[in-house]
Amino acid sequence: MQDCIFCKIIDHKIPSTIVFENKDMIVINDIAPKAPIHYLIMPKKHIKDVQSITKEDADVLSGMFYIAQEISKKNEKAADFKLVINSGYNAGQRVFHLHMHMLAGKMISASEI
Ligand code: 5GP
Ligand code: ZN
Repeated sequence: MQDCIFCKIIDHKIPSTIVFENKDMIVINDIAPKAPIHYLIMPKKHIKDVQSITKEDADVLSGMFYIAQEISKKNEKAADFKLVINSGYNAGQRVFHLHMHMLAGKMISASEI
């Protein structure tokens, strides 16, 4: 997608701190972290939001959770973590390339995003 900032990050056209990468997925540090650990886990395929997911995306989506688990296993500061997906403008989504926020490294209250 031409005007998508995350597609540009995936194509390494915009710099970011890459935490993990494979052929389907990338994990980067959020530029404005809301917790000591604030990763953005996203598929490389441009999917706008949860509303746009199709059946073919099933493996990629389960992969997002699996990567969160792998990251958690490797970092005791991320033993417990919060996963957040904002899907749609009114839910707070500002970058329209599906991504999961992974927040950890501090006590996070149930109401906190
Ligand atoms: P959303 O509000 O769409 O759920 O989350 C977008 C997130 O992307 C925000 O937490 C914001 O800080 C982060 N973000 C926006 N632009 C960039 C960028 O250029 N690089 C990185 N690493 N994060 C970004
Ligand atoms: Zn994109």
